[in-house]
Order: sequence, then C-alpha cells, then structure tokens
Amino acid sequence: MRKPIIVGNWKMNKTIAETKAFVEAVDSSVSDSADWGIATPYLALQTAKSLASNLIVAAENCHFEESGAFTGEISTSMLKEIGVEWVILGHSERRQYFGETNATVNAKTLKVLDAGMTPIVCVGETLEEYEAGSTKDVCKTQTVAAFKDVCPKCIEKVVIAYEPVWAIGTGKTATNEIAQDVCAYIRGVVAELYGQEAADKVRIQYGGSVKPEGLKTLLEQPDIDGALVGGASLLEDSYIAMIENLG
Ligand code: PEP
Repeated sequence: MRKPIIVGNWKMNKTIAETKAFVEAVDSSVSDSADWGIATPYLALQTAKSLASNLIVAAENCHFEESGAFTGEISTSMLKEIGVEWVILGHSERRQYFGETNATVNAKTLKVLDAGMTPIVCVGETLEEYEAGSTKDVCKTQTVAAFKDVCPKCIEKVVIAYEPVWAIGTGKTATNEIAQDVCAYIRGVVAELYGQEAADKVRIQYGGSVKPEGLKTLLEQPDIDGALVGGASLLEDSYIAMIENLG
C-alpha cells in the first residue's frame, strides 16, 4: 500500500516572512491521509524546517557535487545541515530555463540518494511532444536516464512526478485517464529496470494545474500516488482545502 504524497512546489515565490505565515497557518491542519509537503526557495528552507512539525520541507533543486567552484549552487550537505531531506529534481522549468539535462538529473539523483535524502524526480513531455504522440517515449527516456546506476535498494524510496509540461501553470490538466495511463506506463518502465516488486513500491505523482477539488479523484487512479502542485499550493486556504478534500 503506497501512502499518497502531495508536495507544493512554490517555485520562486514567498519571502521568509510569508513562509513563516504559511507554515504557521497550515502545519497543524496536516492529516494522516497523505504525506504533505512544501518545496520552498532555498532562503526560506530553514524557517520552514524550524516551524514545521508535520509538513515535509523540500528543496527545489541542488547540485551534484559536494562543494567547489559552482557559484550560486547549493549542496546536499548544506541542505542536510538544516534538516532538509527531500529535493525536487529535473523540474521542467529547470530543464527549460536552466539547462538541466537528463545527465545532470541523473547525477543529482545519484548524489541525493548517496546523501541518504529523497529525490522527487520530474519527467514529462512538452506540448509539441504530446501533440506528436511521443509522451511515452519521452517519459521512458527521461526515467531511464534519471535512474542510470541507481541501486535496486535505492529505487524504492524515490518519488517520480509525471508532469506534462503543457499542463504546468496553464490551467489545462491532463484528464485522470491520461494521467493514469502515463503513470502506469512509467511504473512499467521502472518494473523493466528493477522488477515489478520494486516498481510497486515507487510513488508516482501527477503534476500540472492540480486544484483542491480534483485531488480526490486523481488519487483514486491506481497508479497515481500523489501530486506535485504549483499554483494551488501557494495560498494557505487552497492548501488546507486540498488536505480537507482528501479527508
Ligand atoms: C509545478 O510547478 O510542478 C506545477 C505542477 O505547477 P501548477 O500546479 O501550477 O501547474
């Protein structure tokens, strides 16, 4: 039985003061229906960590090297020092705007796992790829590349987020049927790599314009174990509505 995991991806939003207000308003509402989390900008992580008792606090990225001449980057040790154990990797905005590649996502996945932390690895096709009918090919390529050299024991703790790029921040969600079909396919790819038993333990989220009212039916899909949520995770009321809608 896979416990659902819902993580808000705040992107480049919220100051430290706003983060404090959010965690104070939301943390006590967190229920056991799922693992609930927020991924915040680096600067707000420590504040979120120090105030959250129930919410998972995740970074939105990290570097694959331990230290060195990488101006502007953050290492897993720096995150661990403040108690952050979760990292989103390979978000499409990082692939699109910051030169993230399948190879760097793989290097980061290996580093995060080596550090004993948990990666949320994002995969998903662009609109062009969706329209060309290559969704599954793209997801397979990204999944296989991200987990190259990941050990069988490690794969079980990984979370995968299937995020069609055309659905992120656009208000266009994939239907539950499309999301289920692709998430099942991705689980099949993991099964090809690691066997069905391991694949059955991997939690796969859907992300792309998820709203509180759609969350429950989304999670009724057999291969969808949670959501990565951007816009709807930013407002306290909307986040609490997600928790309440899940019951
Ligand atoms: C995201 O940022 O990963 C995301 C899915 O955003 P939104 O929910 O706003 O589409």
